[in-house]
Parts: sequence; C-alpha cells; structure tokens
Amino acid sequence: MSEMGLVVVGAAGRMGQALIRAISAIDGARLVAAVERPDSPRIGQDAGELAGIGKNGIVIADDPLPAFAKADGVLDFTSPASTVEFAGYAAQARIAHVIGTTGCGAEDDERIAAAARHAPIVKSGNMSLGVNLLAVLVEQAAKALGPDDFDIEVLEMHHRHKVDAPSGTALLLGQAAAIGREVALADHSVRVRDGHTGARAAGTIGFATLRGGSVVGDHSVILAGSGERITLSHVAEDRSIFARGAVKAALWAHGRKPGLYSMRDVLGL
Ligand code: NAP
Repeated sequence: MSEMGLVVVGAAGRMGQALIRAISAIDGARLVAAVERPDSPRIGQDAGELAGIGKNGIVIADDPLPAFAKADGVLDFTSPASTVEFAGYAAQARIAHVIGTTGCGAEDDERIAAAARHAPIVKSGNMSLGVNLLAVLVEQAAKALGPDDFDIEVLEMHHRHKVDAPSGTALLLGQAAAIGREVALADHSVRVRDGHTGARAAGTIGFATLRGGSVVGDHSVILAGSGERITLSHVAEDRSIFARGAVKAALWAHGRKPGLYSMRDVLGL
C-alpha cells in the first residue's frame, strides 16, 4: 500500500507537535496537512518548523474540510467539542480517525460511536504500548484479588496545564480493573473524597489526582490488602510514546472496515 497521508488537528499543541515529529520518523506515513483553530496565532506558520524538525512546507491552516479531503487519516489530540466535530468530518470523508483527546462525556462518546458507523475510529485515553500492557495486567490482578480482600485505588499525576481529571489513562486503568472484577466502573468508582466520607465501601475503585510542574504522565494502580500491597505503575517520560502509538494506530486503521477500535485492538493485546 502507498504512504498514508495524515492530517494533524491541533497541530500547534503539545501533542500536535509530537505527532508531526513522529510522522516524519515513521515509514509509511506522510503529513499532508496541519490544522489549528481559526483564531490561533499559529495559522500560516510552517508545521515542521514549529515542531522543531525544520521546514516541511506544510502550512498550518484553519479550515479542516480541504485538509480532510486530501488525507487518508486524521490524528486528533484536541478537546472533546472539537473531536466530536472532527469525527463528523472524518466520517463524511470515510477516512480513519485516531482520537487521543480525553475528557469526553457520554454524549460526546455517543456521537463518536455514531461516526464510527461510517469510518474506522481508534480511540484511547492512552496510546502507549506500556500503558495498554499495564491495563491487561491490572485486569488480571483485579480478577485474581477479589473485593473482599483487596481495595483498588488509581493514582495519577500530570503537568499543571492539564484540564480534565481523572486522566483518560486513569479511567482506562479503572475500566480494566472493573472488567477484571466484572462490574460497571460507573457504578463503583469514587472520583472525589472530601470531608467526613465514612469508611471505604468494599468493591469500589478509587481515583486520586495530582497536578503540577511538567509531569508527562505518572499512573499507579494500587491493590491494597490487609498486610500487603501491590503497586502496578507506568511512567511516561516523553510524549513521543503517545505520538508513535497514534501513528501506528492510523496505519493499522487504514483501509479497515468502519467501527470503534481501541489501542488494545491495534496492539493485539
Ligand atoms: P494542548 O497543548 O492544549 O493541545 C491541543 C491543541 O488543539 C491546542 O493547540 C488547541 O488550540 C487545539 N485545538 C482545540 N480545538 C481545536 C479546533 N477546533 N481546531 C483545531 N485545533 C484545535 O493539549 P495537549 O497536551 O496536546 O493534549 C491534547 C489532548 O490530548 C488532551 O485531551 C489530553 O488529555 C490528550 N492526551 C492524550 C494522550 C493519549 O495517549 N491518548 C496523551 C497525551 C495527551 P487552542 O490552544 O487554541 O485551544
């Protein structure tokens, strides 16, 4: 198959720039367009230069439609409202849509699922190999260590600019624990504790969020029993792990039938 032409939306963002660097380093992928918000000061700048890899002749544009028309796939790490809009355009263009955006609500997810009836979508709160393997281990541990004996807590820390909490990765790991326990995460999660909360209810999956500095992403799933504790952790040192995973997901989705896929599908885990 010939090279896959990719458009990066949110091209000036932290992940957008990492995606542009990853595309330039991966065989089989080619950047064909870069898109930012219409009021962005980055419109008109060279996308390669902004990403620190030197001029590549792709000028950051503000209109997604012509960009999508010439692409085979979209890499999207933006915001929930933008991602829902892009999912509609990618479905119309029948091109693969890789969604790394976190913080999507139930209504956003419904609209993304509707778009996936017309085009392949890969959506994951974390595109790294390490975290997706960790999710498999968490599922196994949660299954083996039952709720009468072990409590599950998910702890995460991210940089000071992150706007949603808990992180998409924390929710992905919580979901893995819930699958292992054969329960619905929505009915068992405790996302905030404050004041006189009472004792911990057995079988709940707790979340704790730290924010500060430049932390790319630290996650731990703690299984706490009486007299012993198991901690399964992942530390992201660099955004390139998410960017490489996203490009790999796009190449995997290229030409695949419409549907909503996860990184575990892509990685065969
Ligand atoms: P960021 O630096 O704020 O980048 C987002 C970029 O998207 C910004 O440049 C933003 O522009 C732009 N944007 C927003 N709406 C747009 C639109 N309608 N059209 C074009 N561009 C638009 O944030 P980030 O740190 O890169 O993270 C982005 C998202 O990816 C977050 O949800 C984050 O949690 C997620 N993330 C996921 C993974 C994963 O592996 N799944 C890994 C890292 C991050 P403005 O600044 O003008 O709004």
